[in-house]
Amino acid sequence: MNTSDEAALRTLATALDQLEVALCVFDEEDRTLLWNDTFLQFFPEHAGHVYPGEHYRENLRRFYRQRLSEEELPSMERYIDDGVLRHRSQQRSYEFDHHGYRVRVASLPLGGHGRVRLWRKTQPLLTGMQDRLNPQVAPLPASISPDAATALESLADGVLMVDEHDLAIWANHAFLVLYGLSGIADLARRHFGDIYAGAWLGEEPTARYTAGLAALKERQRFSGAPYELALPHDRWVRIVELRGTQANGCSFFSHMDVTESRRQQEELRLLTSRLESLAVTDALTGLANRRRFDEVLEAEWRRAQRAGTTLALLMMDVDHFKHLNDTHGHPFGDEVLKRVGSVLAQRVQRTGSLVARYGGEEFAVLLPGTDAQGARELAESIRQTVQDLVHGNERTGPVGVTVSIGMACASDGAFNAYSAMLVDMADRALYEAKRTGRNQVACA
Ligand code: GH3
Ligand code: MG
Ligand code: MG
Repeated sequence: MNTSDEAALRTLATALDQLEVALCVFDEEDRTLLWNDTFLQFFPEHAGHVYPGEHYRENLRRFYRQRLSEEELPSMERYIDDGVLRHRSQQRSYEFDHHGYRVRVASLPLGGHGRVRLWRKTQPLLTGMQDRLNPQVAPLPASISPDAATALESLADGVLMVDEHDLAIWANHAFLVLYGLSGIADLARRHFGDIYAGAWLGEEPTARYTAGLAALKERQRFSGAPYELALPHDRWVRIVELRGTQANGCSFFSHMDVTESRRQQEELRLLTSRLESLAVTDALTGLANRRRFDEVLEAEWRRAQRAGTTLALLMMDVDHFKHLNDTHGHPFGDEVLKRVGSVLAQRVQRTGSLVARYGGEEFAVLLPGTDAQGARELAESIRQTVQDLVHGNERTGPVGVTVSIGMACASDGAFNAYSAMLVDMADRALYEAKRTGRNQVACA
């Protein structure tokens, strides 16, 4: 935030003091920027503690420490986590009791600069509701009773009422807020589709909006199942239609803001896919791990058997690696493994092929559709590339690294019942390569 923005906010903070509205501004990383006197009056627990740059978590911690009972204290960190999330995504104001009075809090994004929170003391009643239900301010249509309207106004979810022609006749306040309408008059006996399109007026129409329009069209043919629509600014609403419940032919639609749960689902999905990839990746080399190799081997084995194609396997082991570790240290050994791994990844790029770290200093390369001749040539060129690499650093000086490779290939007729046989054959060839001098390729 630049200094003139900050100066403007400070002026506003002082002006709000005169209206007894508490204000606290946070930056985009949830750190406290500034606050006014009323903030400290409402929340005396922060006086002398809050400081610019303090994270909102600390603010919440003080708040909860003097609110929570002994039994609730162990859950404090969870409450704080929830509070931070709420702070970032709060759309609607809500009320809570504090130091014997009731406050209403609103939170708004500050156009890329963080958020501002505002509090004012209220009567222990849903404020504004009296106005919304005042017949002089907003006359109710005949089809909804004042009692029903009162009940629906106290819901957090948006509710839209339509007549027998599906034209909007009444909505509660939550609905008006969701769709950016300033009053019941804005409903103007429109179809919901128009109201939805209206919410996107002046916004860049995204693919989500187009999908929303398509979903609505679909609804006209099949109705009943809940569905979700995108609103501008990454917001989502879940709609449930309640038809045929009213004698006068009217229907109700409930509109729930599901932005937060969609966001959490998305986070969970990303986390799950990250965990899935971690579970099959070797941390040191970034190659597939043994577990992944076993899975792919099994699948490729069956596929090659079915299709009558070849499946070749290279098992590769670094020569005298123990000596290299003992001489230059384990971290240097790790570096060598990483480089050898990246040589393999570079040389084997054909789709379907798999390079894996089989264990310790052993690597496996699975080559579907490659015959013995091709696999042998590839093995030889990998061996040569590793030998030609210059390893080492200032401390170690140049260090030569070589590998031995065992190759096995299954083709037509030579397929055994078990994929493990292929590994066994390549392993035995590798042993031969070691036994007869290392730094060479041997074939089963
Ligand atoms: P050979 O030529 O017969 O393969 O001899 P070698 O010394 O390479 O074989 P050996 O199996 O005796 O030693 C393998 C060594 O690899 C032992 C182990 O400490 C080392 N090693 C296994 N995993 C890692 C690792 O992740 N990092 C490092 N730096 N060393 C490892
Ligand atoms: Mg080994
Ligand atoms: Mg070795």
